[in-house]
Formats: sequence, structure tokens, C-alpha cells
Amino acid sequence: MAIYPSFQRLGGWQLRGSARALNRKGRLMNYMASGLMSRADEAMGDGKLVVPPEVQEAIRTLIRWAGDEPDREGLVDTPARVGRAWREYCRGYGEDPARHLARTFEEVGGYDEVVVLRDIPFQSHCEHHMAPITGTASIAYLPRDRVVGISKLARVLHGYAERLQIQERLTAEVANCIWDNLQPRGVAVVIEAQHGCMTGRGVRVHGVGMVTSKMLGCFLDDPTSRREVLSLMRPA
Ligand SMILES: [Zn+2]
Repeated sequence: MAIYPSFQRLGGWQLRGSARALNRKGRLMNYMASGLMSRADEAMGDGKLVVPPEVQEAIRTLIRWAGDEPDREGLVDTPARVGRAWREYCRGYGEDPARHLARTFEEVGGYDEVVVLRDIPFQSHCEHHMAPITGTASIAYLPRDRVVGISKLARVLHGYAERLQIQERLTAEVANCIWDNLQPRGVAVVIEAQHGCMTGRGVRVHGVGMVTSKMLGCFLDDPTSRREVLSLMRPA
């Protein structure tokens, strides 16, 4: 991902202990260790995040490139705002979504059927254009011996969505995270989304949804289970 090297060139700040600890968790955490996050997370007196001057200058350059004048009144505060907005759009980099699945419940009263969370709204950004992806996800799993609080599935989705993504990888990451951490009998994830890079540029088509799905375990291996879970996820 091309933004990381440029972030790293901004470095020179001291690493914090927490940044190093997070860095051990995986590759996607690496940019925190560049020092950018520790500096950017310092709040100003008004509680807003400090946006480093290098980041603001990059956005001023982009405004100029788009054809406008970054010094005109309406755009003066825009680079700092955009900088803070992007930290929020991409806050998923600051967490390991698997942590939401750490607390499970084994007393499920004999329940051994599919659990479905349907039509969870999310927003992401495509890694090719940094344009918004908006859509909904339906997530299902067939528990083996434990379940999680239902809101946790949405938190896993958001943890991966709030990064630069492609829809295919987002779908697979959510499914694999549930598969690895809950060890269920099956996982099914279906995502339907619209892509800003299609509606606002390029072919400029509106109202076209892209659908991706990832099936694991019994939903992959057994056609009857797959039909059943798909009917629950998308009722007629
Ligand atoms: Zn795109």
C-alpha cells in the first residue's frame, strides 16, 4: 500500500511503548510504529487531533491539483479537517478486530442452529481510489460450542471496513476472523456495496450493487446448509 512508505518518510518521532506492542500483533499495525500515529494522536487544546504539517501540505497539494486554491477562505481549514477525517475513516488500523471475539458464552441453552446478523450497514474506502464504499453485510455462523454477543460481529466488520479495502478482501477477512476465533461449524458472509469510484467517476453508473460472499466449513462443503443459510440471510 503506497501510502505507508510516504508516512514512514515523515518519521523521526520517538516510538511509544504502546505503538511497539501493537506492532508485534501484525503487519497492518506497522505504520503505527512509524511514529505518525503517536504524534497525530496528540490532541490540541480544543480536543481535536493534531494533524502534522506534512499531512496538511499533502492535502493542499491535492486541492491545487484538483484545480482550486488552498488559500481561499473556504478551504483554509480543510487540510486539517481532511486529515482528521481520514484518521477516523481508517481507525480500523488501530485495532485487531479479533479482540471483539475474545469473550464468548458457552451456556447457550442447547441452541445449535445458525446465528444470523442481517443487513449491517458499513462504510469503507477503496484502496484504488480512496473513494467511499457504502453497503451492508450479513454475517452468519453455525456455533460449535460457543457464541459471541451479537454486536461483536458488527464490530469485527467495522474493524476491517475502516481501512483501505477492496470488497473481496473485506468479505474474506471478516469470515476468516470469525472462523479462526470462534471455531464454528460454518461461517457465511455476504456483502452488498456501492463503490464511489464507480458512481462518481469512470463509468458513472448509479444504483449498481456489487455482491461478494465467503463461505467456510459446512456452508462451503454442504449445499443444503448453504441454501439454508442464504435463505436466512436474504429472505424472499
Ligand atoms: Zn476504487
